[in-house]
Amino acid sequence: MKFLKRCIAGTVGIFAMALTLWFWLAQPQSNPDRYILSAGDVITLDENHASGNAVYVEDGIIRAVGDFDALQGAFDVPTYGEGTGIVLPGLIEPHTHPIASAMLGATVNISASTHSDRSSVMTTLRDAADGVMLTPWFVAWGWDPVAVEGMHPPTLAELDAISPDKPMLILTQMLHEAFANSAALTAAGLPLSHGAALHELEEVNKVVAQIPPATDPVVEFLLRRQYQAYASAGFTEIGIAGAVGRHPDPVNLLQRVGNRAQAPVGTHLYLLDDQVTDETDLGAEVNFKVPGVKFWLDGSPFTGGAATAEPYSNSTLVRQQLGLSHNHSAEVLMDENGFYKQALPYHRDGRQIAVHVQGEEAVELALNVFERLQNDAPQPGLRHRLEHNALITSDQLERARDLGVTTGFFVDHITWYGHQLDALFGLERAARYMPLGWAAEYGLTFTLHGDHPATPLDPFQTMETAVTRRGPNGQVVGSEQALTPEQALRAMTLNAAVQLGVEDRLGSISVGKQANFTIVDANPLAVSVDNISDIQVLQTIRNGQIADTRAIAEFTPKMAWRILMSML
Ligand SMILES: [Zn+2]
Repeated sequence: MKFLKRCIAGTVGIFAMALTLWFWLAQPQSNPDRYILSAGDVITLDENHASGNAVYVEDGIIRAVGDFDALQGAFDVPTYGEGTGIVLPGLIEPHTHPIASAMLGATVNISASTHSDRSSVMTTLRDAADGVMLTPWFVAWGWDPVAVEGMHPPTLAELDAISPDKPMLILTQMLHEAFANSAALTAAGLPLSHGAALHELEEVNKVVAQIPPATDPVVEFLLRRQYQAYASAGFTEIGIAGAVGRHPDPVNLLQRVGNRAQAPVGTHLYLLDDQVTDETDLGAEVNFKVPGVKFWLDGSPFTGGAATAEPYSNSTLVRQQLGLSHNHSAEVLMDENGFYKQALPYHRDGRQIAVHVQGEEAVELALNVFERLQNDAPQPGLRHRLEHNALITSDQLERARDLGVTTGFFVDHITWYGHQLDALFGLERAARYMPLGWAAEYGLTFTLHGDHPATPLDPFQTMETAVTRRGPNGQVVGSEQALTPEQALRAMTLNAAVQLGVEDRLGSISVGKQANFTIVDANPLAVSVDNISDIQVLQTIRNGQIADTRAIAEFTPKMAWRILMSML
């Protein structure tokens, strides 16, 4: 009896100690309500040219920018920071997909960002085969025959040798194609004579549908970690281009994770057409906003999906690696009247319309519709969005500007695929691929994005590519389309705030705006342009507080309990 009592006391004691330890560790580092942030330099991008090496913050709002000594003389408040870091306006990622990133982040990574040839990819797959996975399936992601040379498709025998019993699915980087082993084909009801390659999206989805889904609390936890990953990379706000992801209710999930006072980044969510309801909140909440809707007018340039004006090149890459036909070209996914009819109610309601366009034909159709909308139901302040814009022409950019449409460029296509653009589209089109220089010259509001998970979360790599236009082998793609470092930084901060419709409170270090800062170890406007991607994020501050990116901040006892219960 005595022994039992001692055991119980011991257990309770250990439990209490663990809870105390958690309570102590989980406390976020917090800044006082009022403080002076002392820096090496402050890059403000302020329209009144505010400058200095310190910022005075009060209740999450920027109250003054200037010289440290002057601010210290004027305000009797604590100092924060050691006067060394470079303070930038908080970076904004206007086009990303957090749920897909969170889920794919839990698969085996075989992408071009970590592999340079086929044999290293196969080694990674073999090494991972016995590891612990999120689901009973072996799922890998990032097979990339465009970025990595010599990626001939894996055979069924190769995949069965790696994973003889467990169903195995390898998703390509752009997620339009996949490879399955025998167990996975069988689970999806496909005959083994089909072979490993799943070329049609329909087939891919059929196999994906067989993967037992992760439970809701597990997905929520992964998404919370993904939000932290954005903040660690230096982002303070994200634009979600369509609430997509393998979850029964992605909108509710994003609301739960994004709409919290301590969310590491602010959310600007563009819904899919069928997700909009009468109750969809259009309010201007600081943490969570729904500015509008997202549509797709074409697909990925790297799977033959871009609706181009002229056909793809008839290169070996296009014909053999991508398996496309002679003079391949893709159709725009909607006709003009159909898109107009779907877009009109949103336009009338004052909601932004963001539309995926890569080829000239897709851009043209979007611009035609935006012009008709503005003619038929004028909404002077409403800025619709063109997303990606790989092959937008000079004339189309001028038209977009005149219509008040903003353009977001997926410049990391050059980072990862710059060496293949000639083989896809020929020299003339490769030279004007993602034409940032024209956008800057014509005075458009344009932004840069990484479309994570399509490319890694790496804002300073994005910035460097926008400035150098260098592809994977060091070659320069269309040097006349390069930006200056300041134009690139503006595109990733102030312009992005304009694009999201929140420039009154975000995007620059200006008095009265939210105290959102990305603090880095070197000045992107001063370092050699080839070193911009080496810049390290020291800290991300949102609404005056340090974004908490520690796992323990999200792994609360309640969260742990929910995960545990969901797995039983
Ligand atoms: Zn996207």
